Amino acid sequence: MARALIIGCGAVATVAIKKCCTCSEVFSEICIASRHRENCEKLAQELRPNTKTVITTAAVDADKAENVSALIREYKPDLVMNIALPYQDLAIMDACLECGVNYMDTANYEPENIDDPEWRKVYDKRCKEKGFSAYFDYSWQWAYKEKFEKAGLTALLGSGFDPGVSQAYCAYALKHQFDTIEEIDILDCNGGDHGYKFATNFNPEINLREVSAPGSYWDTDENGKGHWVEIPAMSIKREYNFAQVGKKDMYLLHHEEIESLAQNIPGIKRIRFFMTFGQSYLDHMRCLEDVGMLSTQPIKFQGQDIVPIQFLKALLPDPASLGPRTVGKTNIGCIFKGKKDGKDKTYYLYNVCDHQECYKELGSQAIAYTTGVPAMCGAMMVLTGKWNKPGVHTVEEFDPDPFMEALTKYGLPWNEDFNPVLVD
Ligand code: NDP
Repeated sequence: MARALIIGCGAVATVAIKKCCTCSEVFSEICIASRHRENCEKLAQELRPNTKTVITTAAVDADKAENVSALIREYKPDLVMNIALPYQDLAIMDACLECGVNYMDTANYEPENIDDPEWRKVYDKRCKEKGFSAYFDYSWQWAYKEKFEKAGLTALLGSGFDPGVSQAYCAYALKHQFDTIEEIDILDCNGGDHGYKFATNFNPEINLREVSAPGSYWDTDENGKGHWVEIPAMSIKREYNFAQVGKKDMYLLHHEEIESLAQNIPGIKRIRFFMTFGQSYLDHMRCLEDVGMLSTQPIKFQGQDIVPIQFLKALLPDPASLGPRTVGKTNIGCIFKGKKDGKDKTYYLYNVCDHQECYKELGSQAIAYTTGVPAMCGAMMVLTGKWNKPGVHTVEEFDPDPFMEALTKYGLPWNEDFNPVLVD
């Protein structure tokens, strides 16, 4: 029996909220809040007749911690589930600290305005020191570790699929299959087809920023020292034959969980992240980038300030609307190389999710589904005390077993392959 304040009511949050409502014994009360309360109320009205969960709604602009604090004081939740955008992470964490509430999210912090000189200073220093130039990294949220520890509060970061389940797979492999893991390849394949020439599967701004950035991976030199290797965007390409999907081209990207896994998997030598893209997606993206449509810097247009990428977002199909027209499957998982009982071992843990099955069940496509279900399961772990550890933690720092059990129960079972084809 717990109360959760859920901030965000977009594609991912909708799935998480619907799943919370199937588990009223844990989520006895939820408050759905976003800037536009009418969206939250619409969803609440759809769900109320069929759930025991008591649903209220609120308007909140979570860009400001004081707004979130005021709502927390009024609603008194046991947990704040941040399923809005990464831009709000720090403000919501501040509010949780101020009000003494546990926190969780699905993506690590990045600033909305990458031209903010204060942020730039820290960013430029990090690029030089760490060697990767993505706009997002864990340093901002890890800086809250001591504050959450002292307050006796848990902050669970990145409880989506990747980040999220990908790290639970790593923790599971380490706990049950390996003595040491030396290499991890995280493979994210979307074999779905929505019939549009170009659309993003989740928030276009966050998605396009991520995939247009240089790629990077974690590697280890001959002296055993780990370091980042950065490469031009989309410059490492491989083909892989995914179970239940078939052959797809995939590209090496920077991805946030590499950063935490490099710290938390002892003895790890290399971690890479690959995502599949079709040629049409890449051609459109390159063209949009070349003409400046991915820029986050406002321009003056007919007397108005317009942020190109936000304008583009308004033109593109809403990711939440892709559900009815997307067919095919996703296959996301991790291939491990390491040692067990002194012998070399390889192992592949993955989930396959069918877009149309997700749509039939919850009215969403598989990308929102595969993120929303782990968000709900991670929240459940915190609320039921299974993942209570004061401080700021990523998924691989917790016991994977109850989480993976919950994932199976709520729609994301996993498959194993003890002789996987490796990525060269
Ligand atoms: P959407 O754009 O569909 O939804 C975003 C939601 O956030 C909207 O309901 C919006 O509400 C709300 N929001 C935005 N700004 C504010 C604000 N200032 N205050 C309050 N609410 C706000 O995004 P998605 O559902 O696609 O993505 C949600 C999150 O999930 C993102 O952080 C994304 O990075 C992450 N994600 C993680 C993945 C993973 O595997 N870990 C995979 C995919 C996504 P309103 O319209 O009222 O402003």
